[in-house]
Amino acid sequence: MSVQSVAVLGAGTMGHGIAHVSAVAGCSVTLYDVSPEAAKRGLASIERNMDKGVARGKLDAADRDAALGRIRAVADLQEAVTGADLVVEAVPEKLALKQELFRTVEPWVGRDTILGTNTSSLSVGAIASATEHPDRVIGLHFFNPVHIMKLLEIIVAEHTTEAVLERCRAYGEAIGKQCITVKDFPGFATSRLGVCLGMEAIRMVEQGVASPEDIDAAMVLGYRHPVGPLKLTDMVGLDVRMHIGEYLAKELGNAAFEPPALMRQMVADGKLGKKAGAGFYDWD
Ligand code: NAD
Repeated sequence: MSVQSVAVLGAGTMGHGIAHVSAVAGCSVTLYDVSPEAAKRGLASIERNMDKGVARGKLDAADRDAALGRIRAVADLQEAVTGADLVVEAVPEKLALKQELFRTVEPWVGRDTILGTNTSSLSVGAIASATEHPDRVIGLHFFNPVHIMKLLEIIVAEHTTEAVLERCRAYGEAIGKQCITVKDFPGFATSRLGVCLGMEAIRMVEQGVASPEDIDAAMVLGYRHPVGPLKLTDMVGLDVRMHIGEYLAKELGNAAFEPPALMRQMVADGKLGKKAGAGFYDWD
């Protein structure tokens, strides 16, 4: 019962990457987006990234052609999910939207089809509650850029079965990821630790403990982190992290996640990090 066909719903930053790695692993892939332009852009990004892979000697030209041949952009949602072993949604981070999507597609898929959500913070159980068979719902948290990042965080919700988890682990291995298994708990493993470190680093800037550069160097050189917590906050976006921090502070009842005043001020001033050209670092 291995995963051989994957339907990816949402062809944005994450969706096109999930389609990419699935096709390279030999799965047949359908890519659906509510916006035909986004689906087109997603396909173009996949092609571009695979071409880069060929240029860098990571992918054979023949394998690229075969993988591209396995991906089909489909404009009709029912057609996209019919016959899929695994449906992965990568639509915007809104609970009602994800619930509605799974509620809609469930009657069109087989009883053994897995419904995976790429949510980065929402409760997988809450998404699953919209389905008739929540035992088939699981969190498949990929990282950006999907074709490069090694981690797949698998989130097991209250009703997810062991069989579904095992099939997802096998799928994760097939697409070249290292899988970790995490309980459906706010922030999972990744965001909970990463955001906590980021918030504390910002509080240290506020308290004048050290400069952003030196705080980042402490983690990069002293703890072998590939990137410091403040630079990472800039890369993710201060606004995005602020919202996750607010959510986690509330859900976990832990003030360590509360966005510091400095962060709120920077967001209000438009210093959102890399995408805005300025944050803790100057990105221009
Ligand atoms: P994105 O905005 O780049 O892409 C979302 C896509 O979904 C868009 O192309 C949009 O047209 C499409 N869409 C909207 N409504 C739809 C619907 N009803 N049916 C089908 N497609 C629809 O977003 P993203 O960054 O790819 O994020 C997608 C999900 O992945 C979110 O839940 C996000 O939290 C999660 N995530 C994002 C990252 C990241 O670094 N960007 C990392 C991990 C997880």
